[in-house]
Amino acid sequence: MIKLLKITLILIMTLNLSCETNKTILFTNCNVYGRPDINAILCNNGKISQLLPSGNVQAGKRINLHGGWVYPGFTDAHMHFSGLGWSLEAVDLVGTPSKEAVLDKILKSVKDTPKGTWIRGRGWDQNDWPVIEYPTAADLDNISPNHPVIFRRIDGHAAWANSLAMKLAGISSQTEDITGGIILRDESGNPNGIFIDNAMELIETKIPPTTKKDIRRYLEKAQSLLNTLGITSIHDAGTSKEEIEVMKEMISSNDLSLRVYTMLHNNPDDYEDFLKSGPETENPFIKVQAVKLYMDGALGSRGAALLEPYSDDLNNKGLLIISADEHESLVQKLSKAGFQSNTHGIGDRAVRTILDSYEKMANFSLRNRIEHAQIVHPDDIPRFKELNVIPAMQSTHCTSDMYWADERLGNHRLNEAYAWQSLIKSGVVVPAGSDAPVEFPDPLVGIYAAVTRQDKKGWPKNGWQKHERMTLEQAIKSYTEWAAYASFEEDIKGKIELGFYADFTVLDRELLSHNPLEILNSTVIYTIINGKIVYQK
Ligand SMILES: [Zn+2]
Repeated sequence: MIKLLKITLILIMTLNLSCETNKTILFTNCNVYGRPDINAILCNNGKISQLLPSGNVQAGKRINLHGGWVYPGFTDAHMHFSGLGWSLEAVDLVGTPSKEAVLDKILKSVKDTPKGTWIRGRGWDQNDWPVIEYPTAADLDNISPNHPVIFRRIDGHAAWANSLAMKLAGISSQTEDITGGIILRDESGNPNGIFIDNAMELIETKIPPTTKKDIRRYLEKAQSLLNTLGITSIHDAGTSKEEIEVMKEMISSNDLSLRVYTMLHNNPDDYEDFLKSGPETENPFIKVQAVKLYMDGALGSRGAALLEPYSDDLNNKGLLIISADEHESLVQKLSKAGFQSNTHGIGDRAVRTILDSYEKMANFSLRNRIEHAQIVHPDDIPRFKELNVIPAMQSTHCTSDMYWADERLGNHRLNEAYAWQSLIKSGVVVPAGSDAPVEFPDPLVGIYAAVTRQDKKGWPKNGWQKHERMTLEQAIKSYTEWAAYASFEEDIKGKIELGFYADFTVLDRELLSHNPLEILNSTVIYTIINGKIVYQK
C-alpha cells in the first residue's frame, strides 16, 4: 500500500513534465557524438525511442537542431545547488575600482531582487578607490531604499549597511558599541553605516533565516545558469530536507529543469527521516540515496590531512575533522539504511582513512564515493577498484591549484596530486564536477582542464603533471556516463542510446582533441532535458 502511494505520488509529481513530452518529438538535422550514421533522434515520453539516419519519419513535433552536435546531457557530479544560487544573488565586489562601480553592481542586484529581501555580498575595499574613505549608509540609501543591504569589506572585518538594514536591526543613536566592535558615527552620533568587527553582529544576527521562498529563488537562479551551460543533471553535495521539499514543489509545478542527485547534509535533522523510510530512487528528477560526510579541509588553507607534513609548514599535517571511528560508524549506519556515503577527502591521510572505513563495510555495492580525492598515496590507488569506491574529482581544482600545489606538497609528492589517469587505469570511473560556486560550473572549461591540465593561456606548456591528463573521450565520459554511474543511473543516463533519457547538450561544433583551445570556443546552442528544450541560444 505504502509503495502504491509512493508510486502515485511520483506519478503526480512527474505528470506535468511528462505531459509536455507525451507525444513524439523528432530532433532533426543534427550530428550525434560517436554516431556518424545518425542525423535525427526520435523521442517519446522523454526518452530516446529511435536513432535515425534521416528525419524522414512521422512525429508529433519536429525540431531542427541546425547542424548542432548532440552530446549526452552533461552532468556536474559535485556542486552546491542552493549555494550557487546564493552566490549569484550575493554581490561580488572584489576588485571594484571606485565607489561608483560598487554602487552600480549593487543597483543591478537591487533591481533583480524582490523588495524587502535582504541583499548581501562582500569584497569592497576603499583603499582601491580614487578617494580613500569609508562609504556611508547614505550612499546605499540612494540606490536601495526598499531593500535592506549589507556588504562585508574584502578582509571580512567591516560591514557596510544601509538605513533600512539598521532600522530592521534596531540600530539607532542609542545603540552602544559592543566588546570587540566599533560602530562608526556621524557628527551627531548617529551610526553612519559602517560596523567594525564584532559590531557587525548587531546587524548580521538580525537577518531573517533563509525561507523556502529564498531557497526556491536560489535554485531557480542556479538552474537557469546551469541550463545555459548545457547542464542537464547535477549531484548536489549537501542538500537539506527543506531544499528537497522545494525541489519536489518545483517538479510538481513543472519548474525544475535539471535532474538532481542529492547528497543529504550530515545533519540528523536532514537525514534521519530519509534513513527510516529508505532511499528514494523512483522519481526521474530527484533521487535521495546519499549523504555527504566530511573528513578534512582544503589544501589551500593547509586544512587537508596529509600523511607527511606540509612542505611549506613542517609542523603541520592538516587535520581530520572527525575521528576515524566516528566516520566508520556513520558509514555503517548509512550503509545499513541503503545509503551511499560521499565523503569529502582531499589529503592523502584523509583519503586513506576514508578507504579504511569503507573497507570495513559488509558489501561494496553502494558505490561509496570520495569527493575530491585530490591527493592519493600510490599505495591507495588500487584500493578504489578493490572496494568499489568512486573518486569524484573536479578538473578545474587542479588548474586552479597548480600554481602553488608544489609549495604545499613538495616535488616528491606531486605524483599523488589529481591523479586522474592513474585512477582510471586502475579500473575505476572518475566523475567530473565543478564544486560550484567554488569554481564556475562550465563543463567545457572542465573538459578543457581535464585534457590539458593547463590554464586558459596554455600554461604550463605541456600541462601540469601531464601524464595524468585525461583523453578527450575520458573527459566527456566523466561529464556523462561516469557521472551517471556515480548516481546509479548508468542504464538510463549518460549515453545516446535507445531507452535512455532524452537529455542532450547540443554544441555548435564537434569537440576535437587536436586543438583543445577550440573546446573553450565551443558554444552550447540547445540544452534539452526529457525531450524538452530548456535553453536555446
Ligand atoms: Zn563541494
